Amino acid sequence: MADKVDVLVVGAGLAGLAAAYHLADAGIETIVVERGDYPGSKNVTGGRLYLNPVRPFFPVDFWNDAPFERAVVKEKLTMLSARAGTTVEFSSDALRAEPRHSCTILRAKFDQWLADKVSEKGAFIIPKNKVDDLIFDGARVVGVKATDSELLADVVVVADGALSFIAEKAKLRAHRDPHHYALGVKEIIELPAQTIQDRFGVREGEGAAQLFFGSITDGMVGGGFLYTNRESISLGMVVGIEALMHHDPRIEAPELMEILKARPEVAPLIDGGNTVEYSAHVIPEGGIAMMPKLVGDGIIVVGDAAGFGLNLGITVRGMDFALASGALAARAIKDAKAKNDFSAASLSAYEKFLRDSFVIQDLQTFGGMMRVLDNPRMYTRYPETIANIFEKLFWLGDTPKEKLTATALREAMRGFGNLDALKDAFGLLKV
Ligand SMILES: Cc1cc2nc3c(=O)[nH]c(=O)nc-3n(C[C@H](O)[C@H](O)[C@H](O)COP(=O)(O)OP(=O)(O)OC[C@H]3O[C@@H](n4cnc5c(N)ncnc54)[C@H](O)[C@@H]3O)c2cc1C
Repeated sequence: MADKVDVLVVGAGLAGLAAAYHLADAGIETIVVERGDYPGSKNVTGGRLYLNPVRPFFPVDFWNDAPFERAVVKEKLTMLSARAGTTVEFSSDALRAEPRHSCTILRAKFDQWLADKVSEKGAFIIPKNKVDDLIFDGARVVGVKATDSELLADVVVVADGALSFIAEKAKLRAHRDPHHYALGVKEIIELPAQTIQDRFGVREGEGAAQLFFGSITDGMVGGGFLYTNRESISLGMVVGIEALMHHDPRIEAPELMEILKARPEVAPLIDGGNTVEYSAHVIPEGGIAMMPKLVGDGIIVVGDAAGFGLNLGITVRGMDFALASGALAARAIKDAKAKNDFSAASLSAYEKFLRDSFVIQDLQTFGGMMRVLDNPRMYTRYPETIANIFEKLFWLGDTPKEKLTATALREAMRGFGNLDALKDAFGLLKV
């Protein structure tokens, strides 16, 4: 006879741990099954957690001892043509103020910290155990088959990340469309804290976030990211999987990483650094269009497993969605337990909670974003045009210089004065 608990959570990422934290807090018996050696061991992120969206879901002092790396006080966006780079840099009092707007994290540390909080609340985390299948009673999910055992539960929380084989086994997701996923590759490059502060012009405890797009992806949807940690830099590339599959000539993600590292806008920032970690991971980027069914009888889907990720080109989000959706799933399960009804109808309160929150609202607002970003001109013609404008404005040759407005207008017309650009600008208006 298999053991039975109230709730089984599959995956000790941020979504699963957030659900377990709130379930255990409500006195609900919860077990988290994680395939990795420890929470955080298999998790990849670029590295920045936006804190304002998730603060309402946790106690006020929750984040006080969180292992944040640096508070992001400087935002940089770099548009790259093949031979030039244009960077927009932004900082403000709001970014420097407490409580922090966003902080960089390293998942190996952060997830273990969160797992400790979950354990303190009384939930059990079982690492080194992979959930291979679900156990059904008719159409109702009643437990899981894991490496070491079979476990029964009133509810299974599916928090197994972007590819979610468990959501598929529950028939909540029909198939995976490569158009909805990106591949992320990332290196952690160690550098002394003072070197990081000097190179990015920030104080101790403060840091920068930099996103790159343009010729580095050779027309493919995607770009690069850089986040400063205490004593390391997280540097990576994200590229649409479908675009990567069809790219001619064939190119592998690690090659794109080398292209990024060799750029003159990047190389001096990581110079002398020591790469201590390399990882690759899939990212859900289809937004609302890729959302599976979120609940079934005895089952509920959270975080990346539910496709909750949003890339706007200037912000990359997923971790805030994971934490919030985990917390909202726990709220729905708590209500279901009070009624002793774990049917899909009862658990569908989760969908309402999501719709009332930033999770579904932001995904809906930016539902058309991928159509805007999945456009080769964004990575070729437009960064090139912007580079041309600035190059001609800044450049002094051996002939008299024309008026600045004349130069800027001519270059802008050359790059943007056509029907394609008008169409693209119209598309941008929708987001
Ligand atoms: C390169 C990259 C850059 C990113 N940058 C950012 C960023 O800067 N900011 C941001 O907010 N988001 C970012 N994201 C997205 C963010 O990392 C994810 O949205 C977030 O990690 C999702 O958390 P999760 O708990 O849903 O899934 P995950 O963190 O993937 O956790 C899933 C867990 O389930 C476990 N698991 C899987 N299958 C099983 C199984 N069968 N049995 C048991 N355990 C299982 C895994 O080992 C893992 O621990 C980035 C992602 C990538 C890949």
